[in-house]
Amino acid sequence: MPGFNFEDIDSQISRDFDSAQDAQALESLRVKYLGRRGILAELTSRIPDLPDEQRPLFGQEVNRIKRKVSELLEEKKKALGDMSAYPEAVKRQAREIDVTLPGITQELGHRHIITQVIEEICNVFVRLGFAIVEGPEIETEYNNFTALNIPLEHPSRDVFDTFYLSAGPRAEASKSKLLLRSHTSPVQIRAMKSRKPPLAIVVPGRVYRPDAVDASHSFMFHQIEGFMVDYDITFSDLKGILEFFAKSVFGGNIKMRFRPHFFPFTEPSAEVDISCIICKGKGCSVCGQKGWLEILGSGMIHPNVFRHVGYDTTKYTGFAFGMGVERLPMLRYGIDDIRLFYGSDLRFLRQF
Ligand SMILES: [Zn+2]
Repeated sequence: MPGFNFEDIDSQISRDFDSAQDAQALESLRVKYLGRRGILAELTSRIPDLPDEQRPLFGQEVNRIKRKVSELLEEKKKALGDMSAYPEAVKRQAREIDVTLPGITQELGHRHIITQVIEEICNVFVRLGFAIVEGPEIETEYNNFTALNIPLEHPSRDVFDTFYLSAGPRAEASKSKLLLRSHTSPVQIRAMKSRKPPLAIVVPGRVYRPDAVDASHSFMFHQIEGFMVDYDITFSDLKGILEFFAKSVFGGNIKMRFRPHFFPFTEPSAEVDISCIICKGKGCSVCGQKGWLEILGSGMIHPNVFRHVGYDTTKYTGFAFGMGVERLPMLRYGIDDIRLFYGSDLRFLRQF
């Protein structure tokens, strides 16, 4: 064949493989010889043009060279070992360990600010002998509304104020529509049905409302519910417990006030304010110049609620209260956007 000689290829192969010192060089050789446009492909493509009598010998030579290259590739790969896969800088680093370099530290996570606040609030009540109870976030319409004395025509039962779940086998079985609980109060019903007084329980958890999301609203937020049931529980017990709670969390110097209010599940009911922790009661933008901040709703448990759980209303009385969790860290740390809590932005979360 003109301009072509198998011996030349043999010696070229030997030179090439002798000088290959790393995996990258080996790969280039593989492409050079065995690649789709490599030397061997090129040789193979010439076979059809050869005279008949030359073809067998030429074919044998091509196969021999192919085997030779494959074997050399395998041998050389083994000889270079795993280290060859790494760049020179890494190999050098592995050989010379610099003990003065800082180590690789494992980054520790921590509890979310909302979890921390929930634990802080619950711990105040645990110190007073309350038990912590949790309930499901998917509730029956009965537990979420009816048993809490919230009548059918109450606006909170409207589909615009509650996430109803489509009817399915579970809804059929429960004989009540299912929904995402709009407050933690249905756990009152569950706890009272499954236990007997005396009861002192706090219930932390997520609640859901179809509110348009903005800086102060979210379709999901956290509440803590508390209630106590026994003989002779009075409004003064409620006031004493809530004052202990507010002073533990907001500081001993705050003032507290109860404003009459209406809730279907308590009677009488009151909203509870504390003196503004920002302006100390003088009036500022956070408290709307009022000097007071609303922190929770409360009242004496309505006898109709006791009837729904089968408690004797002539024997037992009790109080209940409920508060939003997000408000506390928002006030305490001056956080002006509720969405920050759920945004998973580490720059925000690492501050707490
Ligand atoms: Zn203020």
